[in-house]
This record gives sequence, C-alpha cells and structure tokens, in this order.
Amino acid sequence: MKDLQPISLEGINPNKPLIIAGPCSAETEEQVMTTARELASNGIKIFRAGIWKPRTKPGGFEGVGVEGLNWLKRVKEETGMYVSTEVATRQHVEAALAAGIDILWIGARTSANPFAMQEIADALAEAKATCPVFVKNPVNPDIDLWIGAMQRIYNAGIRCIGAIHRGFSAYGKHLYRNMPQWHIPIELRRRLPNLPIICDPSHIGGKRELVAPISQQAYDMGFNGLIIESHCDPDCAWSDKSQQITPDVLNFIINTLVLRDTTLTTENLALLRQQIDELDNELIEVLNKRMRVCREIGMFKKEHRMPVVQATRYGDIMQSRVQLAKEMGMSGEFMSTVLSAIHEESVRQQIEIVNDRQL
Ligand code: PEP
Ligand code: MN
Repeated sequence: MKDLQPISLEGINPNKPLIIAGPCSAETEEQVMTTARELASNGIKIFRAGIWKPRTKPGGFEGVGVEGLNWLKRVKEETGMYVSTEVATRQHVEAALAAGIDILWIGARTSANPFAMQEIADALAEAKATCPVFVKNPVNPDIDLWIGAMQRIYNAGIRCIGAIHRGFSAYGKHLYRNMPQWHIPIELRRRLPNLPIICDPSHIGGKRELVAPISQQAYDMGFNGLIIESHCDPDCAWSDKSQQITPDVLNFIINTLVLRDTTLTTENLALLRQQIDELDNELIEVLNKRMRVCREIGMFKKEHRMPVVQATRYGDIMQSRVQLAKEMGMSGEFMSTVLSAIHEESVRQQIEIVNDRQL
C-alpha cells in the first residue's frame, strides 16, 4: 500500500483532526435532519449514520435500509456536510454510491470476514469508486486481518483509505465495551506510516462519560481524528443509546480536547525516553533473574516430586504484590495482569524442567 493518499476533502483543513459525527443509526427523517442541523451549526463537516445495522441478535432494529439514503442526500443538500455510512455487502456499496454517499466505512464484524471484504472490494472496483473508505478494526485483535481488509480495498483501486480503531471484543464485563488495546493501532502506525488512523471512542467506551477521556488519549497518541456517535435525543436512540451524546455535548468535548504537537521532540522528551529505555533494560534483567530462580525451584520440585503449581502460594503472591502496587499508586488490575503473565511463563518453564528426563 505504497501510494496511499491523505483523506483530502474540499473545505476540510488537512492539518486538523478529521471529525466525523452523527447518530449510530438513521432512525427517522426528522431525527436525521435535526441531528445533522445541530452538528452542522457547531461546525461539524462530516456526518455519519448507519443505514444497515449489524446487530448481535435478530429482532433488534436492523436499520431503515435504502430509504435512509434519501435522508442522507437531504443532509448533504441542506447542510453542505459530507455524508458517510457503513457498507457490508455488494448491494450496500452499489446503493450508497448511487445515492452519492461521499465516504464509506466498513464495520468491525465485516472487516473480520475476508469473503465479505472481497465482495465489497469487487463492488468498489466494478463501480470504479474513488471515494474515501474507512475500515474499522476487526472485532478480534488481529492486526494482519485488519491490514488484509485494507489491502483488498487498496487492490480495488481505492487510494484514500483510513483505519478506524474501535476496540476489540473481550469476554466478560469490563470498563470498556471494546478493549482499546492501544498497542495494536500503534503497531499499525509503525507498519503503515502513511495510513490515517482515527479513533471511535463511542464504540470503545460504550458509555457517554468515556467519550472525552478516550478521545484525549487518541489525540495524545497522534491519531488523525475521531468518529463519534451523536444523536439529537440520545436517551431515545434506537441503538447504542448509552454511548451517544448530543451535538452540544460533542461540541463541548471537541473544544476541550488538547492537541499536542506529536512531531516536536524536545530535549526533555529525549531525556525521558532515555530513562524509559534504561528502565526497560532493568525490567528485562530483573525478569530474567526471576526466571532463573524459578527454574531452580523447578529442579527442587522435580527432585522432591512436588507439583509445579501451588495455588495458595500463587494466591499469596498475587494478593501481596497487588496490595503493594496499589500502595505505590498503581492500578491493582494492571499489576494482576502483569503478575499472571509472569506466573504463566514461570509455570511453563518449571513444567519443562519437571518433564526433562535429562535432569
Ligand atoms: C457503528 O459504527 O455504528 C458500528 C456498528 O460500529 P462497529 O462496526 O464498530 O461495531
Ligand atoms: Mn453504534
């Protein structure tokens, strides 16, 4: 994907973050128009609305379908905003292009499916489409699947491609609706430096109050923009109501976000980075020492025919270290994630020793 082009749209400053906003779903013509007018009066230039909604279970609101494309056309005519929608099949692509939709995006369930991606890519190629296409990360944290999805769009002749980071599914209850796993979009930036990456804090957080902090984090990490769900009456939204915000709240958030100059590498920053490098080296050395001691314990257990894992010992370690971390001002959840990764590796190494007949 060598000659990717920046997302340049007339009337939109390419040096500022790209902001896309609008409801999760187009519900009624009135809801679409009211939301669009309010967003436009707050200076939003690109409108989003889902026309076809991929729902987890059947029976929910699955989108208004092609009828909604006429409402988006009206948004374009009356407010001058660019309009964007999600496409998941060949028919969606054909209908959206025929209706003059300016920007298409591909959802997280679709980008996880190479057959669907190829079908969309073929439809774009046949239509000789040149519009910008955004590809959300697949629901599962697989960077190659994400890149592969974008490659199919690229091979269809599209050069204005953007990635949307919307977080990754995880089993169970968490603070986030979809885990951000920030290292994945950061790795994407490293592999494809020319690819614009925007963040979708609405689907990552799943809650209104998380939209601002996640957006700020995305800015701090050098993302190129945001796609945020905004609805004229969020409490009455037909989908994703707990994460939608009014156009006025959105305006407030955008104005309070701090844009940092990510290209500026001050002397102080260089020094801090040097410290991080040194600390990481120390961390690796300490971990290596710990593993060495673990292997010695493994040999002892082998000699004395003891089981490798002693649950009470593990429980004690967890409890005391998490407590210590908390006292030092760190998150207990973070410490238990780190410890369980270390413990898993220690157990693996001890099992190797216990099973090694040479010893
Ligand atoms: C959406 O943007 O409304 C949507 C369905 O998102 P995702 O594909 O990220 O779940
Ligand atoms: Mn949504």
